[in-house]
Amino acid sequence: MSKEILILGGGYGGLLSALSARAHLTVGEANITVVNRAGTHQIITELHRLAAGNVSEKAVALPLEKLLKGKQVNIAVGEVQSIDVEGKKVALTNGSSYRYDALVLALGSETNYFGIPGLQENSLILKSVSDANRIFVHVKERIKAYAQSKNRADATFVIGGGGLTGVELVGELADELPAICRQNGVDFTDISLYLVEAMPTILPMFSPELIQRAVTSLEKRGVEFLTSLPITEVKGQTVTLKDGRTIDTNTLVWTGGVQGNSLVANCGIEVNRGRATVTEALQSTSHPDVFLAGDCAVVFGPEGRPYPPTAQLAWQMGELVGANIAAAFKGMKMDSFQPVFSGTLASLGRKDGIGSVGETGIELRGLPASLMKKASNARYLSHINGLFTLAY
Ligand code: NAD
Repeated sequence: MSKEILILGGGYGGLLSALSARAHLTVGEANITVVNRAGTHQIITELHRLAAGNVSEKAVALPLEKLLKGKQVNIAVGEVQSIDVEGKKVALTNGSSYRYDALVLALGSETNYFGIPGLQENSLILKSVSDANRIFVHVKERIKAYAQSKNRADATFVIGGGGLTGVELVGELADELPAICRQNGVDFTDISLYLVEAMPTILPMFSPELIQRAVTSLEKRGVEFLTSLPITEVKGQTVTLKDGRTIDTNTLVWTGGVQGNSLVANCGIEVNRGRATVTEALQSTSHPDVFLAGDCAVVFGPEGRPYPPTAQLAWQMGELVGANIAAAFKGMKMDSFQPVFSGTLASLGRKDGIGSVGETGIELRGLPASLMKKASNARYLSHINGLFTLAY
């Protein structure tokens, strides 16, 4: 009888699990269902561009129906309500429920607010296409409002957190804000664009030279860096920093960090700091019929340090999970996860970027880094379909 594979999440880990499982199992062998909150597979590595109006929504929100057409994979659009790993069933908030023989948890990560008072209520985030659209609409509205009111809080934009998400967003805003200001008769020199970072430096994963390169490039375009200054409280439009200074703003985007998915953390499988622990074959360490792909799991490298939750890791995990479920169903040996790191690329706006690529960490600056980032997106898109291209 055909087995049931249920995949929760249609992001990098979930989509690749589905494609890989179907490549290894016939329809007679397994029925595959992907549950996702939206009907689209979202290219979240490009959300910063959508948030500044620099790419179209259709380039970053790819309909799952099209991606999975002819692949004999069922799609259920809905929100997961509960996961019963003992009873082997999953309920959605729309009342439907699904049983499984193998479950893939690929629900991604959630924003971590670190308990900072007032932060969640008074900030925007950049985790999905709808978040990115919300930021773009909001930014345009604030500039329009400033043209009328001359209220400084409308002309002040604060990004909280100088990791890759925050830096890529601020680079895009630095490029796009001048045009938005012009369209509304606002002088761009009236605008304050802050990047606030708790640690002494932004982007600690890069060399000091590359970090300086990023800072100089962004400062030239109007970004003001406030480093070694964690945000400690947000009250309405007032952001308080550790040294007691305050910034009045009507736009705070929080990019200060992520944590595991709470549905996964609380479903009864073994977790480490809220992220599922996995065997070498990417099964849950407590429930062998549950497989993990992407940010909701923690994978430790050979030195015992967890790998950062990235798209490239999620993609590779998904591919192995699909193959390993097929192996488990057929009573064959499962493979161990051996991640391949192609490096890290950070976009600094339309035409600039930095990167450290390949096993030896070759450093890239400027156009080569930007082009490499575009090439890496194109490679992903051609990998999942071969038909889609980003509309640059
Ligand atoms: P992050 O955790 O990497 O960075 C968050 C930053 O916010 C840190 O520098 C931290 O010091 C800072 N911060 C924390 N608390 C703060 C506070 N109170 N005030 C001010 N700053 C504070 O989070 P991220 O940038 O969202 O990245 C999440 C994951 O996604 C990472 O693993 C990253 O590698 C990955 N990612 C990759 C790319 C890419 O490859 N281009 C892009 C985006 C995200």
